[in-house]
Amino acid sequence: MKSQSTSSLHRPTTLTTLQTETFDLLVIGGGATGTGIALDAASRGLKTALVEKRDFASGTSSKSTKLIHGGLRYLQQLDIGLVRETGTERAIVHRLAPHVVLPEKMLMPIVEGGKYGYWMASFGLKVYDILANVEGDDRRKMLNKEESLAKEPLLGADNLKGGVFYAEYRTDDARLTIELIKTAVRHGALAANYCKVVDFTYADGQVTGAVVQDELTGDQFEIKAKKVVAAGGPWVDKLRKKDDSLKGKRLHLTKGVHIVVPHEKFSLKHTVYFDVPDGRMIFAIPRGRTTYIGTTDTTYKADLNRVVATKADAEYIMNSVNSIFPNINLTFDDLESNWAGLRPLIHEDGKSPSELSRKDEIFVSPRGLIAIAGGKLTGYRKMAQRIVDLVLKEFSKTEKRAFQACRTKDIFLNEDPLANSKAVYTYIAELENRAIQLGLKKYYGWYLATAYGKQAEAILDKMNEFTDNTPDVALARAEVWFTVHHEMVNRAADFFVRRTGRLYFDIVSIDDIQEAVFADLQQYLGWSEKRLKQEVGDMANLLFDATNYYEEELAPPLAVEGALIA
Ligand code: FAD
Repeated sequence: MKSQSTSSLHRPTTLTTLQTETFDLLVIGGGATGTGIALDAASRGLKTALVEKRDFASGTSSKSTKLIHGGLRYLQQLDIGLVRETGTERAIVHRLAPHVVLPEKMLMPIVEGGKYGYWMASFGLKVYDILANVEGDDRRKMLNKEESLAKEPLLGADNLKGGVFYAEYRTDDARLTIELIKTAVRHGALAANYCKVVDFTYADGQVTGAVVQDELTGDQFEIKAKKVVAAGGPWVDKLRKKDDSLKGKRLHLTKGVHIVVPHEKFSLKHTVYFDVPDGRMIFAIPRGRTTYIGTTDTTYKADLNRVVATKADAEYIMNSVNSIFPNINLTFDDLESNWAGLRPLIHEDGKSPSELSRKDEIFVSPRGLIAIAGGKLTGYRKMAQRIVDLVLKEFSKTEKRAFQACRTKDIFLNEDPLANSKAVYTYIAELENRAIQLGLKKYYGWYLATAYGKQAEAILDKMNEFTDNTPDVALARAEVWFTVHHEMVNRAADFFVRRTGRLYFDIVSIDDIQEAVFADLQQYLGWSEKRLKQEVGDMANLLFDATNYYEEELAPPLAVEGALIA
């Protein structure tokens, strides 16, 4: 199928095609689940459209712990199938996108009174290795107290009994999702952000498409499709309600907050997965110039469109860090940024947030709407396969065409992929040198290689056109050019939050570059002065939320549904 465009400048053409053709499949939701489904469907020959009401990955898929991991918790819940599936998927997703899914060694300290004792941790992670086919150096290693302290000297020695050193993968969830949608588009899918499904259309009692509102202009149009999948994450019940099929199982949303501190304040050598006083476990993850820590897990009933971190959330995380890393003494003054996301879990009576299953579920309504909820970023590919298999099973009753079997296991999520982690590390080193030569901090070499892979070459070339600017501004302007022309950036937040992750991991850079970024976005995207003002105001709100801690959650009326906020 013909490759479509991922340039924001081609949005009008995309929207025209969306309303003039009939699609085999319409996917609602541009998170990891929806974009994964679009890629699977398009690569099997289905004529596929995807619409996202805000930006790709603007829901849960930019707010996770950013790990591609098997999840020890599933083992504890004796969900062997899920351990096996996510465990195996980790290696596949790493192979498909090695620049954005990198191996990460984890240390799990074993402490007096902690969740796992030495033998339980040893046995559990051994089973985990076997189920997930982990080989060689990546197999779990048991450490004694001294070895654990050598791996991570910041740990408190008092109640430390030992540790387990094991392997997972770290990612950038938003960038992974962007690569997924770009790859889906390369395989012929049509995709548009800022297009919200406001209603469904039906004929003979079956769903035949959706009424969509362009959130940038307010225009409404119809998309016709033979099958419709709702991959709306935390909003999926709203879509099921529109279809009049919200019966039986429902979502139970839980909020997860992460805080970000400068790496020099909490200079971990490795990711640490540690016990917190209430019996849960959380991660502290070094990343570039920062370390981020999370997550909380609390039932959430407030505003879905503006989820914020409260004082209590930040205190919970800081107390947890301070209890196991006795010399760190985190306070509010140390916090650089934060994010808060919602887990779209399936409600189970009597279970606490942490006990709820992370397994995905598929609902097919009497009028044919297919909805998917739950699951993990890590399992996006298998979830997509299950959905498209289901769609094709339905098609086999009516369509005479033959479709291919799932082949996403072999589709790289980059046009010019790096071969493996070794190639990624070599490329990081190369870009670190080039960054220094260009007058940038070494950090930007690591950042460019792990955010964009070899696509960084186009950005570095473009920098030559901005020699009148400082190196930092020239880099930001080159990224604006790249992400507008290749990654469907339509709003300032798309750039600062999802494409570059600067709001979370490099917030200190925003002040210096934002004037030039806004000016370029205005020029490329033809913004009026009024629109520019709105973008500047909305970005200020995002900066406020990332750096402030609310007394309580925001109630729904405070943020308007679909408002240009994030
Ligand atoms: P989303 O990313 O929320 O996407 C749904 C999209 O649908 C949204 O972008 C939304 O705007 C859009 N939408 C909704 N309604 C409409 C409409 N009417 N029209 C058009 N579009 C619409 N998983 C892991 O594997 N590893 C982790 O480390 C991890 N950590 C996590 C930590 C936290 C705190 C949380 C909250 C989750 C974590 N997860 C993790 C889970 C993972 O992030 C989610 O399972 C995954 O991102 C869900 O993706 P999704 O596409 O289903 O939902």
